[in-house]
Amino acid sequence: MAADEPVEYRPRGEVPRTGRPATASGPLPTVGLDIGGTKTLAAVLGPGGDVLAQARLHTKRGAQAVVEVAARAVREVAAEAGVVVADLGGVGVGVPGLVSHDDGTVRYAVNVGIAAPFPLARRLSAELGVGVVLDNDLNIAALGAAHLAPDAPGRPLDLAFLALGTGLAAGLVLDGAVRRGSGAAGEIGHIPIDPAGPVCPCGQRGCLELYASGTAVERLWPATSGRPAPVELFEAAAQGNPAAVAARDAYADAVAAGVRMLALSVDVRRVVLGGGVSQLGQPLLDAVQAALARQAGQSPFLASLHLADRVILAPHTVPVAAVGAAVLARNAALTQAS
Ligand SMILES: [Zn+2]
Repeated sequence: MAADEPVEYRPRGEVPRTGRPATASGPLPTVGLDIGGTKTLAAVLGPGGDVLAQARLHTKRGAQAVVEVAARAVREVAAEAGVVVADLGGVGVGVPGLVSHDDGTVRYAVNVGIAAPFPLARRLSAELGVGVVLDNDLNIAALGAAHLAPDAPGRPLDLAFLALGTGLAAGLVLDGAVRRGSGAAGEIGHIPIDPAGPVCPCGQRGCLELYASGTAVERLWPATSGRPAPVELFEAAAQGNPAAVAARDAYADAVAAGVRMLALSVDVRRVVLGGGVSQLGQPLLDAVQAALARQAGQSPFLASLHLADRVILAPHTVPVAAVGAAVLARNAALTQAS
């Protein structure tokens, strides 16, 4: 198989396979793209908010290649959903890196090979003939998680998407809107938690990221079997290895500190654990909730906040960030229409 061919389609069979709007005035279907360093995930959001189809293509590096793969992903996933591209309400795109939502420009995204400012939204829009909006990967992940949250009752949801990956940062949706700030909103990975800790690449000492990211797990418990370090650590801990239990609990304490920071700064109702480490699933959630319960046991104040009840795992059956990008496009289209 060529590196640029689609490797997976998983349309949802239980939802209607047409994305055509019932009326010209209702929400139009939108497509969302989550362009990562290795793969580009696509999803179609129907007029009712259902995920109509999804697709996965290999990302190619460099500005022009990113546009080509993005355009192909939109065409293929729209066809899978039975939607004509020209009938879309828009396309939302998320890219890991420094992006300007306002003018649709990627400033710097080393993971996809864009090192100089590039007008990705404008170029993709010209290629497809529909409007394109751009944001960073964390913001769209937070939007997607808010859209998919099982307790989202159709009202604005306060939610943080805590990405436990190579680094650590959160995307924030507050009162239903993405909190972007001047670009550093949710960068809790660089809040120091130990002034005597090691020096962080950012220049400070003892940043949360050094203890709670996926990279931190690799330092705590280096992988020996070729599987991801978090899998080996949590398996060894589950088997009762005392050193692994201590390392797992130290890691969970650090993630819990991140949850606490988010709750105490913006009081989000949900903190969604995402990123590579969240592939662990329930054992990660159990460990983090146990850490939060331990901390609440020592503080009536923390106990009153019920933090353990607020933490959930990111869904793994749908591409959360791609769905969020489609939500971003839908919101932009609705804003223009109003
Ligand atoms: Zn730092």
